[in-house]
Amino acid sequence: MPSSQSTASSDVDPIIHASVYEAGARISVLLPLPVETAYDYLVPEGVTLAPGDIVEVPLARRFEVGVVWGAGLGDVPVAKLREVVHKLDLPSLPDVLRKFIDWVAGYTLQPAGAVLRMTLNPARRWPQAKVATAIVVGRPLLESGVKPTPAREKVLMIAAKGPFESAAALSRESGVGAGVIKGLIEAGALALVEAQPVSPFAQPQPHYMRPVLEPAQKESALALCAKVGRGFSVTVLDGVTGSGKTEVYMEAIAATLEAGKQVLVLVPEIALTAQSLARFQKRFGAEPAEWHSDLTYKARRETWHGAATGAAKVVVGARSALFLPFNHLGLIVVDEEHDSAFKQEDGVIYHARDMAVVRAKEGNIPIVLASATPSLETIINVRGGRYGVVHLPERFGAAAMPKIGVVDMRKTPPEKGRWGRAWLAPPLVKWVDQTLATGDQALLFLNRRGYAPLTLCRTCGHRLNCPHCTAWLVEHKLTHRLQCHHCGYSAKQPETCSSCGDKDSFVPCGPGIERVAEEAMARWPEARVRVVSSDVLERPSAVAELIADILAKRIDIIVGTQVLAKGHHFPGLTLVGVVDADLGLSGWDLRAAERTHQLLHQVAGRAGRADKPGRVLLQTHDPSHPVMHALISGDDEAFINSEVDARDLLAMPPFGRLTALILSSHDEAAVIAAGRGLAAAAPKGDGIEVLGPAPAFMALLRGRHRHRLLLKTSRNTPPQAMVREWLARVKTPSSVRIQVDVDPYSFY
Ligand code: ADP
Ligand code: ZN
Repeated sequence: MPSSQSTASSDVDPIIHASVYEAGARISVLLPLPVETAYDYLVPEGVTLAPGDIVEVPLARRFEVGVVWGAGLGDVPVAKLREVVHKLDLPSLPDVLRKFIDWVAGYTLQPAGAVLRMTLNPARRWPQAKVATAIVVGRPLLESGVKPTPAREKVLMIAAKGPFESAAALSRESGVGAGVIKGLIEAGALALVEAQPVSPFAQPQPHYMRPVLEPAQKESALALCAKVGRGFSVTVLDGVTGSGKTEVYMEAIAATLEAGKQVLVLVPEIALTAQSLARFQKRFGAEPAEWHSDLTYKARRETWHGAATGAAKVVVGARSALFLPFNHLGLIVVDEEHDSAFKQEDGVIYHARDMAVVRAKEGNIPIVLASATPSLETIINVRGGRYGVVHLPERFGAAAMPKIGVVDMRKTPPEKGRWGRAWLAPPLVKWVDQTLATGDQALLFLNRRGYAPLTLCRTCGHRLNCPHCTAWLVEHKLTHRLQCHHCGYSAKQPETCSSCGDKDSFVPCGPGIERVAEEAMARWPEARVRVVSSDVLERPSAVAELIADILAKRIDIIVGTQVLAKGHHFPGLTLVGVVDADLGLSGWDLRAAERTHQLLHQVAGRAGRADKPGRVLLQTHDPSHPVMHALISGDDEAFINSEVDARDLLAMPPFGRLTALILSSHDEAAVIAAGRGLAAAAPKGDGIEVLGPAPAFMALLRGRHRHRLLLKTSRNTPPQAMVREWLARVKTPSSVRIQVDVDPYSFY
């Protein structure tokens, strides 16, 4: 975290810069490229620039859009400097955002230019503005020296209701010929003016549809509203699934809107934006602006511009929305704060939840972290008094928490059906029977896309692997292809085994959701079964359709991955069956148990959210596992405490710090050599430990060989300076890419 800031509020108008640069001044311009520092340029004649201004500059033999970062750094002689081409007609980046970008770059050890790129991308392809004109009434007819006629008077009367975008439009509307209109324009009785751009954003109204809050909700809402306008604070909104967290944080949004400030709501997945847009529309009478990877360039520019000008009052978006150039930000909400989707794993590697806290601190504004299962990091911050917390211990209205039970797969394994191998054990089958009988909906959850995770040769045991990754190819029946889930490679299933030459010998092993759906369709031929995964929900519109189908009960059984597990509210869904509750627990990952607990808790939370009670069954081979125990007993506290103790004992995050170095290259020998070189030069000292180099779990990914090193430091030893020096000490060939992952969440 940066040291505490004294800015009174984010509202301080950044136009009042200490520094303004006149013609001939040397300034530094940061470019949205993988560069560590800004480059020097000169301010051209007739131009005045200030920090934050977006400018076009020459770069080698092309032009690039960058941002004035401050005074020139001065290490290049003036004679060699080139001039800024011009200043773009775009709002300047606020001071707070520039500071934030520098901070993120410093913390994540990524080039500042690469971080800036996340902010500046829409500005880089800004289209040439067409000056739009409009026709309005000009000076009085008598003064313009033309004689009043019925046609002229009619045009002027209609024009008064304008503005009209063209003479043709006014002619159409008034039924008067274009010649008459032209004459009136020439005489000045009609005037051409610059059209005011219409804002694409409807204004949300704080009190459009205010729900009556229950006492606990009200108390929490008041606590959150009390933070608005009072500077920086972090408050955890810890409420069980269905307790009304969204309704509660929307009260804080209303308070922020009343204060005339903007709000940023971060959600972990695009799939979640569709439903939030609809809920915002209901609550505030207007849809918020959106921000995610599936927007058109036009929509992206609109949201970007709206964030900068303040026209977009509420932005709901995926993690990169954090880098939008908000000028009047008054509140940040991170929904499902525990979700690991907030960690961006490629390009600039950063954790959007953690960086959102930094952004709030830089802007001196409150942030709300909402979750039914807050992350361990957040829990420890609450326990340490660094974050505030409000609780919603019960579901809203008549809804009760679902009953969670286990199916011991060792005692009651699935019985083979006439369709072959089965994955649903008898107790779960019975519950689905009952659910369908009462006309309710069931969700069969399995966090595995496709039909079968592994295909092997029955004759020789040969497994079908991705040629570019250490991974099995996953069979997808929907597309009739084998796919690699890591690099996107896909192929037709071969007819003969390349290893033993046997024909038609390949068999699928294990289930993916398509295979479970096959079983469900065979068991319940009358039921309408739908397979739901990221494969079918690539676009928000597809998500919206699916949600409508579920709400309208056009689906009886959903067989889905985690895309549908989070946040959604389906009143008719009363049964959740987890096909393989043990799935996330294998393998070495610091957060495997925590994550499995969070995910299963979320999935379970989809059941019985309205007046009918919900039922959850976890199929497991290890019913006594602490995660299963916590879910069945509802005693999260004990589970969390044991996780906290374990991390504390091993000085693992957040009690210690981890930084991963991932080396990769097409040349395996080069990676091995680079790993050895880094290990030999590794930092040493008290509380410093370096693990590796070792081949990564995904030793081959997209054709690149991968080795990893892990630096472990104590909580009070920030690794940034150490890692920077370390990397500077070692010369590695350019064929080896080194990725630095500060606070890693994935260890493959
Ligand atoms: P969470 O985000 O905690 O899972 P939601 O905010 O989605 O919970 O609330 C669950 C459901 O209950 C939603 O349909 C929501 O609109 C409804 N709800 C919650 N609180 C209220 C309230 N005070 N008045 C009316 N409806 C409410
Ligand atoms: Zn692959």
